[in-house]
Amino acid sequence: MEKQKDLEIVELMIAMYCRGKHKSKKGELCPECAELAEYVRQRRERCPFGDDKPFCSNCKIHCYRPDMRAKIAAVMRYSGPRLTFTHPVIAFAHLSETIKTKRAAAKEAKQKQRQTDSAKDKEEK
Ligand SMILES: [Zn+2]
Repeated sequence: MEKQKDLEIVELMIAMYCRGKHKSKKGELCPECAELAEYVRQRRERCPFGDDKPFCSNCKIHCYRPDMRAKIAAVMRYSGPRLTFTHPVIAFAHLSETIKTKRAAAKEAKQKQRQTDSAKDKEEK
């Protein structure tokens, strides 16, 4: 995911959330959401993945501070479904990437499970 595009989407989602939840005016963010947007930008700037990075919500490295992570999770929960109607192309790109990431994670978990299972077999014998 290109850095600029990724940030645009996150900021769009924060703006949507802020308007809906905090009743801020269009094009404006409340201080709390402005801080969150700034934080996200900073983290993205320092991200070791550069432009190859998946969406932050799909990233393996959870580099957000716990309180910021909780905030961004609330933003995603709120704005994610709404994005499907206002920006279907973006939402679809996000969704297909999320599915891909989840599938890869499930595969990995299965392999690990198999490894521990066979390790257990050996122990029992
Ligand atoms: Zn807000």
